[in-house]
Amino acid sequence: MASYYNDATVIFLNGSFVKAAEAKMDFYSQSLHYGYSVFEGIRSYKTESGDTKIFRAAAHFDRLKNSALAMNMPYTWNTEELISATYQVLKRNNMQDAYIRPVVYAPANMSFAVNTESMIFIEAWEMAPFLGDKLLRVMISSFQRPNPRGFKIEAKAAGHYVNSILASQEAKTKGFDEALLTDMNDNIAEGPGANMFFEKDGKLVTPPPGNILPGITRATVLDICKKWGIEVEERLFKADELKNADGAFFCGTAAEVIGWESLDDVRFKKDWNETVSKTVQKAYKDLVIEKELGSQYSAA
Ligand code: PMP
Repeated sequence: MASYYNDATVIFLNGSFVKAAEAKMDFYSQSLHYGYSVFEGIRSYKTESGDTKIFRAAAHFDRLKNSALAMNMPYTWNTEELISATYQVLKRNNMQDAYIRPVVYAPANMSFAVNTESMIFIEAWEMAPFLGDKLLRVMISSFQRPNPRGFKIEAKAAGHYVNSILASQEAKTKGFDEALLTDMNDNIAEGPGANMFFEKDGKLVTPPPGNILPGITRATVLDICKKWGIEVEERLFKADELKNADGAFFCGTAAEVIGWESLDDVRFKKDWNETVSKTVQKAYKDLVIEKELGSQYSAA
């Protein structure tokens, strides 16, 4: 297993900065027993100017708040203070390119009742793109995404990720790089930890909100397409249409933008290097380090 911290690593824990190795949490927490917590996955980058920049920090901490409220978890922080605490975590750990993980969790409570308080920590570690940087062999999972009538799937709640773990482990056991999950009506939804787009005749298509976590990277890709005049459709589609595509990619904070080689061993029609998707990948890489297009996100 990867090593996420050492004896010197500092985390933000309920208003203080403490050593990760010495931090304590309650074994009777409702979060640990029932998967009842909410979290974010954020990245910071060393930008072209040499500064450290948390990419779309406000969007992530706003989503953290919305996820907590959707789960009936008390939320007493504001986005500005959490962004500033996160920059402190980066500074104290001497990090610029980092993956940042805030978690809002519940106190000791073995019942299902609403709590009167929540707790928070923010961790950071160095992490390469989590699906690697080679084109992916993807398989359609036997698992579906959680039914939106059973879960508030627009919230980034820990319990939802049991579904992600099952799907990803199944794909890897079968020799693939990652899973692709459908919704309860067999429409393509998303990956275990990333949204997806496909490309056909120079246009992009992505599933609409409803059965997916509407990702911040997905929104950024939509912005890039608008800026570059690339046509995008948000609509439902099924596996057979996807298998006829020219190309496809996953996008997410941890994965960034990463192309696919094949789906269920059916190769995509175009060489990745000749796709519009590849130019979107490049634009995203530039944007996060504030090269060229970056200024439009500098306040976010
Ligand atoms: N879908 C799922 C299920 C995810 O876990 C993630 C990662 N947060 C995404 C999509 C992509 O979201 P974002 O671009 O905001 O990281």
